[in-house]
Amino acid sequence: MNESTPPLTSPISVDAIVVGAGFSGLYQLLLLREKLGLTVKVLDTAQGVGGTWYWNRYPGARCDSESHSYAYYFSKELLAEWEWSERYPQQPEILRYLNHVADRFDLRTDITLGTKVLSAHYSEENNLWHITTNRGQIYTATYFITGVGCLSSANIPSIEGLDSFSGQWFHTGEWPHEGVDFTGKKVGVIGTGSTGIQAIPMLAEQAKHLTVFQRTANYSIPARNKPLDDTFRRFAKENAQYFREVMTTNTNAHPFRIADRLALDCSDEERNQIYEDAWLKGGLQFRATFKDLLQNPQANQTAADFIRNKIRQTVIDPVKAEQLSNIDHPFAAKRPPIDSGYFETFNASHVDLVNLRETPIECITPQGIKTSAAEFKLDMIVFATGFDAMTGSLLKMDIRGRNGLTLENAWHAGPLNYLGLQVPGFPNMFTITGPGSPSVLCNMPPAIEHHVEWITHCIAYLRQNQYNTIEANQQASEDWMATVNAAANETLLPQAKHSWYLGANVPGKPRVFMPYPGGFLRYRNICEEIVSKGYAGFMLEHESLGQTDK
Ligand code: NAP
Repeated sequence: MNESTPPLTSPISVDAIVVGAGFSGLYQLLLLREKLGLTVKVLDTAQGVGGTWYWNRYPGARCDSESHSYAYYFSKELLAEWEWSERYPQQPEILRYLNHVADRFDLRTDITLGTKVLSAHYSEENNLWHITTNRGQIYTATYFITGVGCLSSANIPSIEGLDSFSGQWFHTGEWPHEGVDFTGKKVGVIGTGSTGIQAIPMLAEQAKHLTVFQRTANYSIPARNKPLDDTFRRFAKENAQYFREVMTTNTNAHPFRIADRLALDCSDEERNQIYEDAWLKGGLQFRATFKDLLQNPQANQTAADFIRNKIRQTVIDPVKAEQLSNIDHPFAAKRPPIDSGYFETFNASHVDLVNLRETPIECITPQGIKTSAAEFKLDMIVFATGFDAMTGSLLKMDIRGRNGLTLENAWHAGPLNYLGLQVPGFPNMFTITGPGSPSVLCNMPPAIEHHVEWITHCIAYLRQNQYNTIEANQQASEDWMATVNAAANETLLPQAKHSWYLGANVPGKPRVFMPYPGGFLRYRNICEEIVSKGYAGFMLEHESLGQTDK
């Protein structure tokens, strides 16, 4: 604690507390401070700004969104001055960018790092949130805003014997800042999601021997990452408004549109050529080749077969090829990874694949990992096992709303919410990219900008109209859950039974489809319509007039 820290007994009073100093928290601070003139404090456990990009430092960590789209678009000057070096930015570059944003907009004065929020309790008596930190500091605030990220609470599976392992182990989302040297080591990696698929080729480059423990085989499209040249950088800057328009008016907030054609309307040759071109171009555009890939199982099958064939053509060993291409869910029903040499890595003689569906992990021993078939001797284990997504980081804080209602209780059957922005029973609490919003189904920065701007307008409205509180209505929230569910059922997304979209990767977590899958444009329109109807579905409370149910 530094000298300027006030005595622990005197609470600090601000208008808004924002938790998290990543993309969400930085922009929320800027808008509340500069546009509304509020006093704001951003709190973050990390010792630096950056959120996800502060923690995820594993080898190969880079963004799957193209760099010119993985940025804030609110400031023309910021867009003009920042130069991305590669098609997909690496973690250190994104972290530099977010540090630049913090400096450029003079945000650091209102950010307290190294500070974990332990609890946030709403008091009806004074209509204030009381926030307690691990440093013993108490804050009071009218607005409590979470920008904790959707994928920030590491999911470390409880495998018997982990404590007994005599080597080192790491989770990709909590990677040591000093890095890890795998040279000459026997390394095991568990997990073949987007993270594992990025890390495995890099681990293979260093390790003496790499064993990949795969539970569910996964599709992956080549990223075709490359350095950006000045011509493209200039093009992206000159067309920034065009890209912004595309990103804010399509399904996934990426800088490209989904082709307006159906997969089965093409001949086999035409369709294969379209897939081939997309494969060569690389990246998430592959999923945009036809508009019905996520709706029509037969259409999806054509893409799935194309990728399976590519895997079989790439991987020389027929047993590995079969295990890698034996995928149990529709293409893109789980978040589709993109890669740099993932399948090729399995052609190296020092890389083995263990199929956990056939031979599950029984335990971890002092020497390594024991499956039902064999014990694998390892010096290091990398858990690329994902996150307690969307709700994990929120539930880790002791959040209590009206009448002491805990968030845990409010969400015992799943994360009840309205628009992914509020939870009934928790007045003046806002969840940036919370469950129930399109968030993780989108390129994140446009989704974050939208939420931060919506929340800012909402708070401005409350203050202009002397409303003390805004709170999601219970029925509107239940209806919103039904809307999210119905939108999911219009797609093949729920067919991926092990997906973190459903909470299925964390034992005991309620199985509820969490992100809103109806598309970013549709969602933005819903949010706008609700505002135009005077915040329909929210309850706004006047100091003297009592509650107004919209
Ligand atoms: P993930 O998609 O949840 O994948 C976790 C992997 O670990 C899966 O293969 C899973 O197998 C496996 N696993 C989990 N528990 C296991 C256990 N007990 N035993 C064996 N295997 C186990 O996590 P992720 O790869 O970290 O990705 C999460 C999300 O983060 C992505 O979907 C993406 O949205 C985001 N992300 C983005 C980027 C980027 O843009 N650059 C990079 C990485 C991640 P099952 O499939 O069988 O459960």
